[in-house]
Amino acid sequence: MNSLTMLYKRARLFKELFLGKTLGKRAPVGLFVLVTNRCQMRCSYCFVDHKLRERELSTKEVLDLIDEGYRMGTRLVCLMGGEPLIRDDIDVIVDHIVSKGIICDITTNGLLIKDKLDVVKKADMLMVSLDGDEKANDLNRGPGSYKKILEGIKVARENGVVTRINTVLSKNNMDSVDHILSLAKQYGMYVTFSITAEACGGSEKIQEMLLSDEETRNIYKQIKKLKSRGQPILFSHHTLDHVINYPLSYSQIIQRDDEKHKGYCTRKCMFGNQLGYVDSNGKVYPCATLWQTYKAKSILDVGLRQAWDNMKNLTCQTCSCPSAPEWDYLTSPQGIIDGIKFTIKQAASQFRRKYE
Ligand code: SF4
Ligand code: SF4
Repeated sequence: MNSLTMLYKRARLFKELFLGKTLGKRAPVGLFVLVTNRCQMRCSYCFVDHKLRERELSTKEVLDLIDEGYRMGTRLVCLMGGEPLIRDDIDVIVDHIVSKGIICDITTNGLLIKDKLDVVKKADMLMVSLDGDEKANDLNRGPGSYKKILEGIKVARENGVVTRINTVLSKNNMDSVDHILSLAKQYGMYVTFSITAEACGGSEKIQEMLLSDEETRNIYKQIKKLKSRGQPILFSHHTLDHVINYPLSYSQIIQRDDEKHKGYCTRKCMFGNQLGYVDSNGKVYPCATLWQTYKAKSILDVGLRQAWDNMKNLTCQTCSCPSAPEWDYLTSPQGIIDGIKFTIKQAASQFRRKYE
């Protein structure tokens, strides 16, 4: 994809998001679609229930979802899972998204990048999960996974695929931030760091690896310092400050009627309004945090429009999840200016790598 196309697609996305946020228009501008719950890995913190959600949307159902979403304003589809590349029809799905000029991102565990390179190369961005150095990553994500993921990242980058790493922070990988950043620099990537949320499941294993609030705060302070020193950290200072200064415990959500804390973030969360998730069984959720508790409706029963409307009465104001303040920032005037600069920088770096 050339740089002008990338700029055009991002401009369309941010225009829709900005208008949606400013005018209060609720539409699925960004859809995170779990196209399958199948996965070769079993990460300890995975919120995908591999056993219970037996139903997987058919090819036609996914394409219809994309068509309906497009009519309603969808300009970004992020394919997730499970492992999205595991689907035999993933090429058809990606082609359909790309043909509509919708940004197509893929979140992957990295294991099938080499086998599905033709598909991967069509994505606008690949997000690969890697949780630290070999020991730390394999504790979070299973023995032997580090080497396979790294191999996938190398292949993606050698083939010019825009790739970012996401690291889920836990007690296992608290000391791996520097390792991840040095890998990111080596391969020309950016990194995001996520909090392991209790909401993702209550197994004993997860409880053991959860960072305490103090540990979370300290690690984000460290990340903010590293960003100030020019390290390739994607989250804005606005987002890092949101996490560092979060006034409740990280597992707690600030509700709109919480008089004491609702002033902490006065803007409406974009999840459930302009951004949302579709599960592999067709159910529509606002975000991963509400996965366990939200009474979702399925596109298979009521269609996307009604399933989306079902989220209009959310009671939360904000939470500790970094994605919510990040999207808010990206759609602010300053965030849009920074986004344009970032896109130009990214395009220039892609161009240099291609001709080096
Ligand atoms: S790779 Fe993703 S979907 Fe697969 S087990 Fe890990 S977190 Fe879950
Ligand atoms: S405030 Fe948090 S929990 Fe509520 S919709 Fe937004 S991201 Fe989800």
